[in-house]
Parts: sequence; C-alpha cells; structure tokens
Amino acid sequence: MGFNVAIDGPAGAGKSTIAKLAAKELDFIYVDTGAMYRGLAVHFLKKGIEPEETDRIAQACKEAEVTIGYENGIQQIYLNGENITGRLRDEKVGNMASKSSAIPQVREKLLELQRTLAKTKDVIMDGRDIGTCVLPDADVKVFLTASVRTRAKRRYEELVEKGIACTLNEIEKDIQERDERDSTRKIAPLKQAEDAVLIDSSEMTVNEVVKQIVALCKRD
Ligand code: C5P
Repeated sequence: MGFNVAIDGPAGAGKSTIAKLAAKELDFIYVDTGAMYRGLAVHFLKKGIEPEETDRIAQACKEAEVTIGYENGIQQIYLNGENITGRLRDEKVGNMASKSSAIPQVREKLLELQRTLAKTKDVIMDGRDIGTCVLPDADVKVFLTASVRTRAKRRYEELVEKGIACTLNEIEKDIQERDERDSTRKIAPLKQAEDAVLIDSSEMTVNEVVKQIVALCKRD
C-alpha cells in the first residue's frame, strides 16, 4: 500500500494547483480524478449525447476505457488509447462531467482505476469523494475550500487570461450550481470526511496551503 493523501473540495478551491505542488515536494504521484470524469465526458460528447440522457450515458460507459499516464511528470488522460488531455478543460466538457458524474455506472467505471493507483503508489489524489468513498483509509485527508466569491474570482481570472469572454456573476452562478449538484447527489456526494482536516484557502496564499499539507504528510 502506498502513502495516500486525499484532497477533496468544491469546484475552484484550488485543489489541483495545490495538490500538484505538494506532490512535487513530497515526490508523490498526483492523481486528478476530475480529469478522469472529464475524460469520460469527452466520450459522451463525441457520441452526440446530451448531459440529460442518463440511459445513453450509462450505456456508452461500457465502450469507454479511460487510462492515465505521465509525460514529464504531467498527468495525461487517454480515452480508448487516444490522448485527449488537451480537450479536458473546455466548459462543455466540464458541464458534461459535472452532470454525468452523478450516474452510478460512470462512478463505478472510475472507482477501480483510482483505487488501483493508490494501492501501488504514494499518491495525492484530488476530487470530491476521495476521503469519504474512494480511499476511506487514506493516511492524510484534507477538505480544501474557499468562499464562493473567492473561487469565482479565481476562475474568472483564469478564463480572462485565456481570452475567454465571461462575467464574474455568470461564473459565480455556475460554481453555485456545481456545488449544489455535487453535494446533493445520491451517490458519493461532496462532503468533508469526519477525519479530514479543513483548510479554507480564501485568505491564504498557494504556498501557505502547500506548506500546511506537506507538514501533515511528514512521516516520523
Ligand atoms: O474537479 P473537476 O472540475 O475537474 O471535476 C469535474 C467534475 O467531475 C466535477 O464537476 C464533479 O462533478 C466530478 N467529480 C466527481 N468526483 C470526483 C472528481 C470529480 O464527481 N472525485
């Protein structure tokens, strides 16, 4: 069994930025489970499926194989052997991932892949249900959050930098909807594990958060 660190939290809390840096410092592998849900979402979109077509999504899962690999230490997602990492951050893909991740067949498909990775390697895995469901025995659990406004601002700045037109209010509304969907779904909802350390990053720098997580992982 590897040393397992679970980082959960809502959209835009900075999980992937923080987890990547902490993984580098600890020499662990970073596993972004959101990217896996996004990988399956690319498959559903390629087939022309709408996010509301639950039955078609459940069916389409059967013919999708999502695997991960690393290039220069950066996680890559393969869909039936094709590297689709470049497509994962599209808004359409994010929306499909957010909706399709509530479907049991979608979650089952990825659960084993996530657990297998954690069994063999020292990992920092981020997502929504890692501490509560995927790795309930993780050595360190963190619930990373920030206020809705802070998360919306971070996401807004990221999109503006990429030249994508949007308003802060639109982003805030989208984040609130995602929070609501992730926290109220029947299967593996977003919630803080009882034994997770809560970190609210609203008033913290990236380095401060990384430092706190790395300190939690020191084995002595
Ligand atoms: O974290 P990210 O925004 O990339 O995740 C995409 C979507 O996948 C989220 O909106 C969430 O609904 C879903 N997800 C999940 N469980 C995880 C990771 C992500 O349901 N462990």
